[in-house]
Amino acid sequence: MHKPRLRRTLLRPVRYTWPNMIGGDVWEWRKLARRQTTPVHLILFVTDRCNARCATCFYWQNLNQGNSLQLPHLARLSASLDRLVWLDISGGEPFLRKDLPSVCHQFLDGNGVRFINIPTNAIQTDVIVSLVAAILAVPHSFRLNIAVSLDGVGGNHDRIRGVPGNYEKALATLARLREIRDSDPRLSLSVVTTVMRHNLDDVKQLLALGAEQWQLDYHSLNILRGSPMDNGLLPPTPDQFAEISRVQLEHCRRYFRSRFGPLQGWFATLGRYLLNRYYLRELEGRPKDISCNAGRISCVIDANGDVYFCELLQKVGNLNDYDWDFKRLWFDFQAQRLRRRVRRCHCTHECFHTKNLTFTPTQLL
Ligand code: SF4
Ligand code: SF4
Repeated sequence: MHKPRLRRTLLRPVRYTWPNMIGGDVWEWRKLARRQTTPVHLILFVTDRCNARCATCFYWQNLNQGNSLQLPHLARLSASLDRLVWLDISGGEPFLRKDLPSVCHQFLDGNGVRFINIPTNAIQTDVIVSLVAAILAVPHSFRLNIAVSLDGVGGNHDRIRGVPGNYEKALATLARLREIRDSDPRLSLSVVTTVMRHNLDDVKQLLALGAEQWQLDYHSLNILRGSPMDNGLLPPTPDQFAEISRVQLEHCRRYFRSRFGPLQGWFATLGRYLLNRYYLRELEGRPKDISCNAGRISCVIDANGDVYFCELLQKVGNLNDYDWDFKRLWFDFQAQRLRRRVRRCHCTHECFHTKNLTFTPTQLL
């Protein structure tokens, strides 16, 4: 048999059955992504305002420049998009926007978004709790995940984040959000931790605390990326990451088992393992090029209207130049030209590779 055809034949059971095992929905999303012309995964930097000064921040040069995505612009954007499955709301600190519920409702009403994920530094407990309650005050069926950033334990976290008392405030925010989750199962809670060379003991402690004390639904790890504000910080060594990955996989097994059941939980853990193995290759200096789905499935819109396939690639254009008509920009000559260049690429950007795992998992093998 011809070699590529043999490979396709051998991989077909993997390609077409394992994502479906995680949930029939995955099959539906893949059909949707094939059918429609605009992305099913949108990352919105809703504001560049922030009340922290994190040493790990890769966005620090853009912070507090006075840019925010305006509601009328977001309404036009939403009208020019097809359906969305995932909406990642980023910044800046998203909860500094008092109209954050309106932002979410725009994409729930207009694009039927299924999953909204909002990372937060969790400093303003009362504000966050009331905005989360307001986001959930609609009858839509969707999942809202609040991802609290924690990079160290106690004072270590405060030092990394440049905010005294941040750790205790984050724990208070988690506790209050757990009360909402108890009465509204659409809410899930996670912690997101940046892994670097100098916080490995803290990462292990945080993983244990998350599972044993904070009753999280998940704990995600991001490898330090981009050009952080403190340019002395470094990503973990391959050995360090391999060690952390083993600990994380233990916890994942439990999180996924309780969320998906034994069999599907096992497949979800396998997916985590594949991603971590892919990142390990990157850290070892022998990266694997893939056909990334950024620019097709996924897209990023910055607080000033700049559009990127992903934050690590060059800008595609600015929506202000297209009267916030997303389709016009997405199929413009410049976008088509850049899209051809994303054919072979690699990085450790978790937001995109979880989608690559969903849509084209065999690439990561
Ligand atoms: S990492 Fe997030 S919370 Fe920290 S300074 Fe950057 S935008 Fe603000
Ligand atoms: S592999 Fe990474 S850098 Fe390349 S397009 Fe995907 S997200 Fe961007």
